[in-house]
Amino acid sequence: MNRTEASASDDNGRAPVTTLKGVGPALAATLGKLGIARVQDLWFHLPLRYEDRTCITPIRELVAGQPAQVEGVVEAVESGFRFRAQLKVALGDASAGTVLLRFFHFRRAQIEQLPPGTRLRCYGDVRMGAQGPEMIHPQYQRVREGTPLEARLTPVYPASGGLGQKRLRTLIGQALERLPDDCVLELIPEALRQDLGLGSLREALLTVHRPPPGADLSALACGTHTAQQRLAFEELLTQHIGLRQLRARVRSHRAPVLGATGALREKLLERLPFTLTDAQQRVSREILADLGQDRPMLRLVQGDVGSGKTVVAALAALTAMECGWQAAMMAPTELLAEQHRANLRAWLEPLGIEVAWLAGKVQGRARKHALQALSHGAQMVVGTHALMQQGVVFDRLGLVIIDEQHRFGVHQRLALRDKGGAQDRVPHQLVLTATPIPRTLAMSAYADLDVSAIDELPPGRTPVQTVAVSGSRRGEVIERLRVACAQGRQAYWVCTLIEESDQLAAQAAEVVHAELQAALPDLQVGLVHGRMKSRDRHAVMQAFKNGDVAVLVATTVIEVGVDVPNASLMVIENAERLGLAQLHQLRGRVGRGNVASSCVLLYHPPLSALARERLGVMRQTCDGFRIAEKDLQLRGPGEVLGTRQTGRMEFRVADLARDAHLLPAVQRLGDALLRDAPGQAERLVQRWVGSSARYADA
Ligand code: ADP
Ligand code: MG
Repeated sequence: MNRTEASASDDNGRAPVTTLKGVGPALAATLGKLGIARVQDLWFHLPLRYEDRTCITPIRELVAGQPAQVEGVVEAVESGFRFRAQLKVALGDASAGTVLLRFFHFRRAQIEQLPPGTRLRCYGDVRMGAQGPEMIHPQYQRVREGTPLEARLTPVYPASGGLGQKRLRTLIGQALERLPDDCVLELIPEALRQDLGLGSLREALLTVHRPPPGADLSALACGTHTAQQRLAFEELLTQHIGLRQLRARVRSHRAPVLGATGALREKLLERLPFTLTDAQQRVSREILADLGQDRPMLRLVQGDVGSGKTVVAALAALTAMECGWQAAMMAPTELLAEQHRANLRAWLEPLGIEVAWLAGKVQGRARKHALQALSHGAQMVVGTHALMQQGVVFDRLGLVIIDEQHRFGVHQRLALRDKGGAQDRVPHQLVLTATPIPRTLAMSAYADLDVSAIDELPPGRTPVQTVAVSGSRRGEVIERLRVACAQGRQAYWVCTLIEESDQLAAQAAEVVHAELQAALPDLQVGLVHGRMKSRDRHAVMQAFKNGDVAVLVATTVIEVGVDVPNASLMVIENAERLGLAQLHQLRGRVGRGNVASSCVLLYHPPLSALARERLGVMRQTCDGFRIAEKDLQLRGPGEVLGTRQTGRMEFRVADLARDAHLLPAVQRLGDALLRDAPGQAERLVQRWVGSSARYADA
């Protein structure tokens, strides 16, 4: 390829959007909100989906649940206020069918434009109403008979408030006119593209923005069209390169060499009531090897719930302390952080090590005290994201441990790392996650981390017997609870809501708590939720641990980390609303001791097909990896990885589950490009990431 030519083309794409017709400062600002600053950002602003306005569906043939375009004549108009303002328009066509158009937001003028006899062309989703097919708020236009149809599928783009589809389509159309030739546009070497059977980028872009008539609609709808696959490949490649670059930047810093004697570790191991599993030992060795280097460790430890990640983390922390460095452990919720604090105190205090504590609720004198401890070199600190806040300064932070990575974003990890303090050294990073992720996916999503797996549970665990029970049999479930507790067992009753508002969840839990107290007068029923004072919550948890409380009613605050081995029964309310990962996490709270445990998934019929499938999976297996695979199929990787919460990169075309088969080649090619053509790799990232430099300060 001719390099001068290539960079000229880049300039072409790099020109600001204001070089397009009709784009002034105001529109440029609106575009900026969508991450569009340059012409090439428009090339890569890809359709979310397509609408087919190339044909008209006879009204009689409308199918509920499918979008369609219809054309007909207004037969009747009715506007009024029954419960809420509503405009109803009956539209009929030659197929002798009638579809009802319903509008809940409308203006008077709109009604006047729709007298009976007006010919309308409408596009919208079809649903079945009491009287026949309906469209709610369809897009519509008044047309003359014989108005030509669209020749191509209509792309629908991610849009924003001040910027409609029409405007975006025009702008993207203009930008595409400037698309240079393939030989200039292409950043993936020709030979490799041929090996992988990838088409050209130019062709792919033109196809996804303007699918030709006769394009494979069903392939386009599910993202498997060759043009989309070509783009998905490049997008995944970009993500991989971006994460590898991030890793390289972090690794270019120096870290303290933590090559310790192991004296403290030995002391802890001697005192533990168990021996480490082979998997724990292997992962511990991997961590130890990393800590001995003068480059920051970036390691993710995956392990199913109950696989014993905490003790592995504690051993790593001891290594840092032996060398005179501080270790910090951060968890996403206060409850989980409290659990870690309790564990670490039990393990470390006998070794003469104090465990400092910092959470959002630590205020005033206690906070000042904690901050002082950190800046004066407290050896071990546990806390929540409060550890990352301004004003928190460490003396010599050597190791950062982050539990439940999927709740924290890359940025947050970086923030804590920057607290490292000690001159030019950055701390080692250890990330723990209980979300088992299929291997290919892990390699892609965590390309910035080395991955270790604790793929073995401690001996003596018995699988949790799981049943799904309809809410109509709630009475039986309560009775079963009574019998189990009479035999000295303990139980969780977990209350869940769809929208996880702390307040509503707390209320729901309070109601159930009262119900169970009334139904089980002979038993102690406790309550924990996220809105309680941590001291009160602590007291209840402690009572449950001691066995003084038999039944613990809880919100999903107990999802992670709670560890009471004698609790062997769990009831999960509204189980049909929860995802597999969350159900698995919750269920992981039981089955920790040596009694056979059980889990009751209480649901409210009717079950959707998806919910039925999820509950079925839960009944069949307790294996976190199998559940994760299934979850990936059912929900897609965004949910599995928790991207929603973390703000990890969202993909434009790629879909990790659907396109997983591309990943091995993506990883190979990405690493090759970084090694042999770093400039090319950088340009790929620039192209896809848009104008905002993502992890620029890594
Ligand atoms: P998770 O991986 O879910 O964080 P934890 O670290 O909370 O798991 O460990 C779960 C329970 O298993 C704890 O009570 C812990 O003390 C115990 N445990 C950890 N490792 C072992 C082991 N090798 N043998 C027996 N019990 C263990
Ligand atoms: Mg844990």
